[in-house]
Amino acid sequence: MKLSAEPCSTLTKPLTGSIFNIQRFSLHDGPGIRTVVFFKGCLMRCGWCANPEGLRQEIDIFWRADNCLHCGSCIDSCPNNIHQRHGERHVINRMATCNGCLLCEETCPVQALKVVGKWMTLDAVHHEVLKDLPYYLTSGGGVTLSGGEVMLQPAFARALLQRLRLEGIHTTVETAGFASWASVKQVCMATDLILYDLKLADEGLHRRYTGVSNVRILRNLEKLLTLNIPLRLRIPVIPGVNDTGEEMTNILNLIASMTAGKPGFQGIDLLPWHAFGVQKYSLLGLEHPAKEYLSGQSKKSSEIFLQAASSKGLPVILSDSLIG
Ligand code: SF4
Ligand code: SF4
Repeated sequence: MKLSAEPCSTLTKPLTGSIFNIQRFSLHDGPGIRTVVFFKGCLMRCGWCANPEGLRQEIDIFWRADNCLHCGSCIDSCPNNIHQRHGERHVINRMATCNGCLLCEETCPVQALKVVGKWMTLDAVHHEVLKDLPYYLTSGGGVTLSGGEVMLQPAFARALLQRLRLEGIHTTVETAGFASWASVKQVCMATDLILYDLKLADEGLHRRYTGVSNVRILRNLEKLLTLNIPLRLRIPVIPGVNDTGEEMTNILNLIASMTAGKPGFQGIDLLPWHAFGVQKYSLLGLEHPAKEYLSGQSKKSSEIFLQAASSKGLPVILSDSLIG
């Protein structure tokens, strides 16, 4: 899988980032009331991912096939021949050439299409997040960069963080840490708080359920912990994946050994899983990658996880924010 390199900043071309959402009034992604900027593009493929529209760096399209009248307006309007008719079927193809012009979305008579993601300049994102400045100031909140994976667009992320911090706005970065150390360091040195995801301790299970090894993730975490930047670990509690007794014990032992004596470590957030986000996969024309093993929710095992972490003396919170 290849993600395009960040468009470089030149004298004539402003730095841009691929963003798929800017969500206001978030209460679960750092302290206070926050605006969350979602970066598009991620190299991991976690089966429980709640934001499949954040996986690719290119623009995506949500298509509600059940609503579609098959009128052909989007096919006629698209300048890049991305909407096509294959016999009776409507096919969305060659998304890499989509320019985000929105003509298909705007021409659809029944709102069956939604274009997801755009390349935004630093000024455009900055303008958007400043709308809620009064809420940040009164609640102790700020701006959180999330994804996707923020570390895949390090120059854009760092420039945005630096600009916000110069204005006295609290910044948080949420990451799964699967990127080069140079990128992780470049971004994290510019933020006030890091929310670092840990999913599985066992390397084989990590490969199986996320598509990648956890060696780089753990190595980056180890290095980050030496920098004394405030850092919280986030564990998505996934039914049947990491909420078994053995894996739960493994991950808590790993955290205890890595964080001992590290002043930047502030604690663990447990995030229970629920099957809210699965519909997005069909809107993208994708099979849900984990439908064979994901079911139910993990509220009960999150409580067991909480007790196990507390009994090891680890500072831990069970989040009331569900993922999935
Ligand atoms: S946004 Fe524009 S280029 Fe992209 S699919 Fe729609 S009409 Fe085509
Ligand atoms: S314009 Fe809308 S209703 Fe018509 S074919 Fe395209 S998606 Fe379907």
